[in-house]
Amino acid sequence: MSIISAAQAAFTEAYGTEPAGLWAAPGRVNLIGEHTDYNDGFVLPFALPQRTIAAVGPAPDGQWSVCSTLAPDPVTFGVTEPGAVTGWGAYVAGIVWALQDAGFEVPPVRIALASDVPLGSGLSSSAALESAVLTALIDLGGLDVPLERRPAIAQRAENVYVGAPTGILDQSASIRCQEGRALFLDCRSYQIEQIPFDLDGQGLAILVINSNAPHQHVDGEYGARRKSCEAAAEALGVKALRDVATADLAGALEKLGDDVLRRRARHIITENQRVLDTVELLRAGRVREIGPLLTASHASMRDDFEITVDQVDTAVQAALDAGAHGARMTGGGFGGCVLALIDADRAEATAAAVADAYRKKEFSAPTSWVATAGPGATRL
Ligand code: ADP
Ligand code: MG
Repeated sequence: MSIISAAQAAFTEAYGTEPAGLWAAPGRVNLIGEHTDYNDGFVLPFALPQRTIAAVGPAPDGQWSVCSTLAPDPVTFGVTEPGAVTGWGAYVAGIVWALQDAGFEVPPVRIALASDVPLGSGLSSSAALESAVLTALIDLGGLDVPLERRPAIAQRAENVYVGAPTGILDQSASIRCQEGRALFLDCRSYQIEQIPFDLDGQGLAILVINSNAPHQHVDGEYGARRKSCEAAAEALGVKALRDVATADLAGALEKLGDDVLRRRARHIITENQRVLDTVELLRAGRVREIGPLLTASHASMRDDFEITVDQVDTAVQAALDAGAHGARMTGGGFGGCVLALIDADRAEATAAAVADAYRKKEFSAPTSWVATAGPGATRL
């Protein structure tokens, strides 16, 4: 069954009626620019073909109900404040709350969700869920919320209601990405530019490899990285590490006494520059040449930011050994996915090489697929 049919069926099963409409929002991979978002820096995600579908219809009881193919019993709530709804329903209650808090009258609805975005793999199933629900509420309520305001509303739901301190990257990608483009986002000004990302035309492909590694200590480590970045910025007397120019890197690092802070800062400062360099190359249609930037980004995450694990390092190395032009972990780290820029006809061979390397290390098997840049959140 397709996820569209699955969402429809879940709706009918839970509520005994047909939905008024269907909305879809994608997961994403970040091509480059990791942990730069909360440093006011640059990111370059593109939307995955994998999406979350929200089947939505009006709620006669004046409340909000949501169920999922993963949790078929509906969670029902009225007007709430952060903390009232917990568990996965908090993502939906958070969207309702964030819209209300922004001054909008949110229509009471019933929702059923289905998704083929892998959960908790760094492909942002949470933002896909939030963006599908947000778009549905805006459309059904006839709310005047311009596209550029939407990511921050979804981010508030996740930060304040769910309590996950994430940056603006995931929601921006799920809401604003376009087919065949990568989204160049300035996380300080929220300015975006749609960057041509023509893989097909150049005989190239992006292979996404889910390491399927169990996530460990993610929240604590993420918080620690944020603190280090803030401490480094403060020590350097800048608002955020984004304000340190690459040309001033050596001088800035000298000013940081602590070796850990120095390496954390070096990752962010060089990573921002790699995003800018990648954008330059893509604007010029020189897609293949971004490979070394991807690989350098991975080395920086592994050695300086220390957010990789053996499974992702192994996948990157195996992909490169199999002839990839570049490869890197994507997402917040400590597991999750790797992306590799490969010649289009090398997908199977590369996936097999990674699977082979995993077998040798007795890791559980990875999952690989070719990702194309899909559209952002939309009504179907
Ligand atoms: P990621 O965004 O990288 O997939 P997160 O931990 O941020 O990982 O979000 C995953 C969480 O989002 C899940 O644990 C669940 O609470 C919620 N979620 C995402 N998609 C769904 C879905 N289709 N049905 C129910 N809950 C979902
Ligand atoms: Mg998430």
